Amino acid sequence: MKIFCVGRNYSEHAKELNNPLPDAPVVFMKPPTALLKGNDFYHPDFSSDIHYECELVYRVCKNGKHISEEFAMKYVDAVTVGIDFTARDIQSEQKKKGLPWEIAKAFDNSAVISEFTSLENLQNTNTILFELKYNGATAQKGNSSEMLFSISKIISYLSAYFTLQQGDLIFTGTPAGVGSIKPGDRLEGFLEGEKKFDVTIK
Ligand code: MG
Repeated sequence: MKIFCVGRNYSEHAKELNNPLPDAPVVFMKPPTALLKGNDFYHPDFSSDIHYECELVYRVCKNGKHISEEFAMKYVDAVTVGIDFTARDIQSEQKKKGLPWEIAKAFDNSAVISEFTSLENLQNTNTILFELKYNGATAQKGNSSEMLFSISKIISYLSAYFTLQQGDLIFTGTPAGVGSIKPGDRLEGFLEGEKKFDVTIK
């Protein structure tokens, strides 16, 4: 199982981190060991600035390679909200040095997912609303229609390089409003108003 992630896919978030808008999806991956089991996230001691990034996560339902945008939606069957935990201090150092991001992005428990909702059960798969509450207050609000690269474009792009396999996950980028976490914090994720995860930082 592979976990694909797309960075800088919402213009307001790219701006808040002073990143230029990309002309192709910015892709990185997390290993299966990145998936958080349970609802407690233990703040690792290698970073003093772990950020939450709430994102829509799609589930791949069949294998494919060189998938055209036109048929891309046949390759995902469900969506949910998740968190791409990011060690921002380490990522900034790596970026400065021109080095890969893995130690800032792919560490254990850095990928939160929740129960998937079948795409068939959504009113409109082009405008999927999601939200993150940080200690009870709305911190991030997203709408899939605001993604710079749609899920169809992302699938088509990824599949030119990687064989997509059933069970793979695709994190599609975060809207503006990312922030730092500390022990005691609570993160709640919502998809179309339905609560999906409730994570406590330890
Ligand atoms: Mg992200």
